[in-house]
Formats: sequence, structure tokens, C-alpha cells
Amino acid sequence: MPVCAVLGGQWGDEGKGKIVDVLAEKAHVTARFSGGNNAGHTVMNPEGDFKLHLVPSGIFWPEGMAVIGNGVVVDPDALLEEIGGLRGRGVDLDGRLLVSDRCHLVMPYHVVLDELGEAARGDQAIGTTGKGIGPAYTDKAARIGIRAADLFDLEALYPRLERVMGHHNAIIEKVYDAAPVSLAETFDRCKGWASALRPFVGAVEHVVYNAVGAGKTVLLEGAQGAMLDLDHGTYPYVTSSHPTIGGASTGLGLLPRDFDSILGVFKAYSTRVGSGPFLTELFDETGDLIRELAQEFGTTTGRPRRVGWFDSVAARYSARVNGYTSLVLTRLDVLDSLDNIKLCVAYELEGKRVEDFPGSAAVLERCKPIYEDFPGWDGATAGVTNIEDLPEGALRYVRRLEELSGLPIDVISTGPYRHEVVTVRQVV
Ligand code: GDP
Repeated sequence: MPVCAVLGGQWGDEGKGKIVDVLAEKAHVTARFSGGNNAGHTVMNPEGDFKLHLVPSGIFWPEGMAVIGNGVVVDPDALLEEIGGLRGRGVDLDGRLLVSDRCHLVMPYHVVLDELGEAARGDQAIGTTGKGIGPAYTDKAARIGIRAADLFDLEALYPRLERVMGHHNAIIEKVYDAAPVSLAETFDRCKGWASALRPFVGAVEHVVYNAVGAGKTVLLEGAQGAMLDLDHGTYPYVTSSHPTIGGASTGLGLLPRDFDSILGVFKAYSTRVGSGPFLTELFDETGDLIRELAQEFGTTTGRPRRVGWFDSVAARYSARVNGYTSLVLTRLDVLDSLDNIKLCVAYELEGKRVEDFPGSAAVLERCKPIYEDFPGWDGATAGVTNIEDLPEGALRYVRRLEELSGLPIDVISTGPYRHEVVTVRQVV
């Protein structure tokens, strides 16, 4: 299975980090292709408990390479902090971590613009992580971004930085009435990043291309989720990149024909961080219970996550957009102590049944979920590693999710640790 993509099927935080850590044992290369350090991937394995924001979660298997593709925007300070943290805990990165020289950098003025822009949106705020990711992608599309490669030609960088910062500082001062970002300080930081990042920057696309050409296993680690995709998500309450399979292609230079398996990772329920429509959201004590049981607080922001039931209309849409070959179900154990579980099978809009996910956030807001009731199960799924050991009721829930999504569930995660997993079918 040379290329296997692990993609978020919902609104992010599905547990992709854990799944990538599990599957990376067999990978020669693990790659990120979109997003930035707004992602927060949690990995719990014999090395310890880790929260990764930029470094791919395959880094813990010493034989593999971990690469950050051109589609990712990189905050150099955040990356260096993560590298330092991993090294400090004994994870060997030398010669194993490579960042594409085509990656756009998240600059200090992007963080300032992100915070000011979000505050100015008032009650129309998107709920960004405030890490400068959106403004960095905006500059990329506007062709005024600074890329990792630019750090290694400081002479050419200075006049570009001067022009770009002149533009952004005019907005910061005149539109937002805030203090400008210092050009001299920013340039000094670029000099520091140039030397600190030198060993980690290179031509990622060739590493990936060569691995694919040699039939080696390349594992792609999605960030965020399909429903937050800039085009396919609930616009404007979306992220500024493409966490879907198309983003995996452009974000690494892979050809569509290279993909052998595309895994959609779904929680057994749903969560969403930030604003935007979320039809199955729970506002009652069941929602609070799930949030507490599952510790649904953002890895990057610490914000409480919005919690709701599994939405199979969204899941079917996510499967269409991504072409999943199969699914991974995570956090089934979180539902262990519930007496009743609901499953959204369709929506209702103005008296009509809706099976297809609407393209407009405003239309979506007017839809109501149609639920199927599911009894809770006797016994625990927590820590189960064998499908025969799943309680009957839990298995029935899994089978119904398969029916509703039209896809097999090949992996079931039953806890946060690496070993807490049921492999129904080998996927890599
Ligand atoms: P990611 O961004 O998709 O990698 O997901 P996050 O790391 O933000 O959130 C997933 C959380 O769920 C982390 O705290 C994981 O340790 C945890 N997790 C992953 N799989 C499971 C599981 O099957 N059961 C439980 N209880 N926790 C899980």
C-alpha cells in the first residue's frame, strides 16, 4: 500500500494523531500536507504523551522520515519549539525531519493580523486559533508570502519584507488603529530562523516522489477535517486550507493515481471548535457528560469543544469529497457509559427530508436532524483490541455507522494509547 492518507472526516480533533502513530510503524515517510500549528495532534505511546502541532505524528518510529509538505504554513518559532521539546524528550530528529523549502512561513505580522481581524468581526467571528494561519494563506494566494527558501537569501528577502510589511503595517495602523510590527526585529528573527532551520529545510516533493516511485509506504497525516475545508466545508466557518484529499495532492506534489488507501477518521460522536453550523450539537447534560468523559477541550486553544451526536449526512458528504476507501472510528469508548445514543440519519428542511449536505451554511442552520435511537451497551469497549470482545450493542452501532456511510470501518480506536485499537482489516 504505497500511499495511505489519514484524513479528518468531521470538524477536526477526530484522533488522527493517534491513528497515524499506530499506522506509522510500517511507513517509510509520514507527511503533513495542510494547515499549520493550528493543528494539535495528541499521541500517547511508550515514549510518553505528546502534543504535536507541526511535526508529523510518525516521528516516534525511528526508521521513518517525517516531512512537512509545501501545503503547510510553518511558524518557525513554533516549529523550533516543537523540535526542541521533542529532542529534550529523547526523540531523534536528525536527518529524519524535512520541511519543504516551498512552505510559506507564518510571520509575526500574520499573528497580529489574525487577532485584530477576529476581534473586528465581533459576533461574526470565525473562531480562529489566532495563530496567524489564515493571514499566512491569504498572503500565499495574494503572492506576497515569504517561503522557507527565502530565508536562505537574506539580501533578496529584505526588500520584499519591507514592501510586504509596509502593506500590512498600513492596515494594522490605519484600519485597526494598532501598533505596527517592527521591520528590523522581524528581519532579525528571519536571520535567526535561517541558521536554526537550515538542517531541516529541503525538497520534500522529491523525497515523497522517490519513496512512492520505490514502492515504499507513505502515510499522509491530515490536519483539521473535511467539514472545515475552505471549499467543501461550512463556509465561511472553515479553515483557510484544504484538509481534503485534493489538498493532500497539491500539498505534497502527489498525483491522484498515487493514492491507494484513503482513510476517513471519525469520532463515534461529533465535536466542533469555533463558530458555524453544527446540527447535532447537544446543549444538555448529555453533552456536558460527553465533554467531561472525553475531555473535549482543544489541544491547541484549550477551548471547550462543542459536542453532539454522529451526523451521517455530513459523514456521507465527507466520504464523497474524499473518496474514502474505508473508515477509522475513534473514541467509541467514550459512549460506554451512556444509556441512550442518537444517530442522525437525515435532515428535515421545511417539511422535506434532506439526504445531501447543503452547500450553504444559512440553509444548514435551518435544517433539523432526524435521529435514530440506539440503546447503550452493557460492558466496556475501552481498551478492547479484539473485535470479538466488543459488546454486542457497540458492534451493532458500528455496523449501523457502516450502513449509513456506505463504507467499512477497518480500524476502531478504543482509547488514547497506541495499543488501544481493534484492527478489523490491515490498512497499511
Ligand atoms: P487530532 O487533531 O485529530 O489528532 O485529535 P486530537 O489530538 O485533537 O484529539 C483527539 C483526542 O482524543 C486526544 O486527546 C487523543 O489522545 C484522544 N483519543 C484518540 N483516540 C481515542 C480513543 O479511541 N478513545 C479515547 N478515549 N481517546 C482517544
